Amino acid sequence: MRVIRELKSPLNRLFVFETEDGYRVESVFYKGERLCVSSQVGCPVRCLFCASGKNGLKRNLTAEEIFEQYELLKRELPIKGVAIAGIGEPSANADEVVKAIELFKREGLKVTVSTTGYPIEGFKKLIRAPHDGLTISVHAVSEEKRKRLFGVSVSLEQVFSEVEEYFKEASSSRRKKFQIGYLLIKGVNDSEEDLKALGELAKRFRMTIMLMAYNPVSGVELEGLTDEEYEKAFLKLREIGVRVTLSNRFRRDPLGGCGTLTIGREV
Ligand code: SF4
Repeated sequence: MRVIRELKSPLNRLFVFETEDGYRVESVFYKGERLCVSSQVGCPVRCLFCASGKNGLKRNLTAEEIFEQYELLKRELPIKGVAIAGIGEPSANADEVVKAIELFKREGLKVTVSTTGYPIEGFKKLIRAPHDGLTISVHAVSEEKRKRLFGVSVSLEQVFSEVEEYFKEASSSRRKKFQIGYLLIKGVNDSEEDLKALGELAKRFRMTIMLMAYNPVSGVELEGLTDEEYEKAFLKLREIGVRVTLSNRFRRDPLGGCGTLTIGREV
């Protein structure tokens, strides 16, 4: 694996890597201390709002290839933590991702992971991996809406029954490492009813909700919320009595923001 290109914005630095067999994946250095790495070449989940899974999955990355994205940059960047939240669905490559988490931990790094929970066998392994934070990307509570948003998915009932099972054996500090990710899309998952169902789910599991903003992806006809609408959704959830965080500027940056990484960037 080698770095073949670097792109910079005032907030983020994006690196394009080429694997030995000629595939390209990307990592983003953000917040001046964290590296968001890819776990697969492409993605089998094919979320409607995301550029990374547009053409499905090409292949899994090995643990070494996931780790190498950090290793090739560590001398140049002050990396303190890694987010396995770039291209790919970590649950769909769980064995290699768990090995990569262990490699990162050996370097003294904090490691967080984002997953939709697909497939459930992989999700079970990730829940129990030595991560420092796991975000479950929910994006809609109604199964009908989830089917529209995800190309493939497991039902929320299945995902959260696994979480429930694990929480019975986990310490309270470990339980606090789990949160819900929810990407707001205008007219799709932002109604009062949607937010109420989301708030109730988070309350039941005492999880924080990370509200994410939609970043435009070419060829996708979806719209994000205005800042005002976004804040209104935040306040609505706070009213229900759950902890909520908002996407920071780094995650909303056109360069390297959530959902914008691709395996097809021209170099
Ligand atoms: S958001 Fe994540 S799971 Fe969905 S297609 Fe993109 S990389 Fe895959």
